[in-house]
This record gives sequence, structure tokens and C-alpha cells, in this order.
Amino acid sequence: MFNVAIDGTTSSGKSTLAQNLSKVLGFKRLDTGAIYRGIACRFKRLRMRKVNDKNIAKLVKDISIIVSFKHGMQHVIVNGIDETDFLRSEEISLLTSEISPYKVVREKVLGIQRRFAAKYNCVMEGRDITTVVLPNADVKLFITASPEERARRRYLQFEGKKGAPTYEEVLKDLKMRDQRDSAREFGKLAIAEDAVVIDTTNKTLDDVTKICEEIVRSKMH
Ligand code: C5P
Repeated sequence: MFNVAIDGTTSSGKSTLAQNLSKVLGFKRLDTGAIYRGIACRFKRLRMRKVNDKNIAKLVKDISIIVSFKHGMQHVIVNGIDETDFLRSEEISLLTSEISPYKVVREKVLGIQRRFAAKYNCVMEGRDITTVVLPNADVKLFITASPEERARRRYLQFEGKKGAPTYEEVLKDLKMRDQRDSAREFGKLAIAEDAVVIDTTNKTLDDVTKICEEIVRSKMH
């Protein structure tokens, strides 16, 4: 199988890039952040409060995670509940970055990701895909942009919605998540030695997609 691995900072545009790239290449796409977010939803549904070893062990013990695709859209079903509509709130974003550092959580997700890559030509995006999950991926990309630009993009996604955070709140949360994702022991956000780094700060999504498509196609030949 031909695997394209994409890692990057939060709100760097990597998800939309992965989506566009998978379309132009005719590959499947796996958004791995959505799986971690689904686990955070389960944590909330169990009404757990503190993120600690005991609660995480309880959470992971009998969790069942199914990733399915309907009309090309990825759904995450956790213990029979389709959590797809609940994955993207600020609350779940922050909770996810607290839960995702735990080794037992990462081990749960690892198998899902590797089985997917073994089955399909795919574009897989996350934080540790190029370094831990698919260290032998055919193409490795690292996507980032300045914190201010990323906060601006994320703020625009919330604008006009009920309970939308301010730009300052978005920037603060984003820096907190960057810090958590980069400082943890397991599966931390890092640039693989053989990854191509793309800064999207002053680029349109179309530009970024074209650059990445060229990189992939040159490797395929
Ligand atoms: O990519 P997204 O913003 O949806 O990821 C949400 C959170 O899930 C990240 O902040 C990170 O803590 C976690 N994550 C991870 N490893 C991945 C993908 C996401 O730890 N491969």
C-alpha cells in the first residue's frame, strides 16, 4: 500500500490538506485526531472528572472504537454511540490533549491506524504518524503555521456560533495544546528527520495541496 503520513500543529490546515490530497490521489483518508477526540467524548459520557491513571485505566478497559465512512465522511463510534457531531467543541479539544498523552490510550489507537494503513492506499494525519505510527510511510509531511495565523483560522470557524470563544481565548487554548502535544513522553509532536516541512502561514490551501500532490506523485513514479 502507498501511505502518505502527515503530522502538524493544531489548526495548521493539515486536516483540510489531507482531505484534498486524498481526493486528488483517490486515496482513503484517516483523521486520527478524531479517534482521540472520540475517546475524550467517552470520558465525558462516563462523567469522569479528573484525568488520572485510575480513570484512564477504567476508560480504556472496555472501550470499543469503530471508525466507519458514510458518503466519504469519517464517523467515530465509541461504545455504540456515533460521536461524530460532538468531536469539535473547545471543551473536547482541550480534554483530548489531556487524555492523548497516556500510553494505554495511544496503544488503543495504534492498532486501528496500522490496520488502516495496511489495508488502504491512504493519507493519514495526526501528531505522531510520521514518527511512531508509520515510520516507513512512503511520503512524510509536517504542516505548520504561526500560532497567530492558526488561531485566526480557528476563530473564523467558530465565529457567529453560540458560545463562540474570543480570538484571545482561541490563541491561548491553541498554545496550551501545542505545549501539551510537544512536551509529552509518548507520541509527541516532532518533526521526523525525513519529513518535508511546509509552513502554510502565507499560502492558500490550493497552493499547499499542489505542493504536496507534486511531492507524492514524484515518489509514486
Ligand atoms: O488533530 P486534532 O486537533 O483533531 O487532534 C486533537 C488532539 O488529539 C490533539 O491536540 C492531540 O492531543 C491528540 N492527537 C494525538 N495524536 C494524533 C492525533 C491527535 O495525540 N495522532
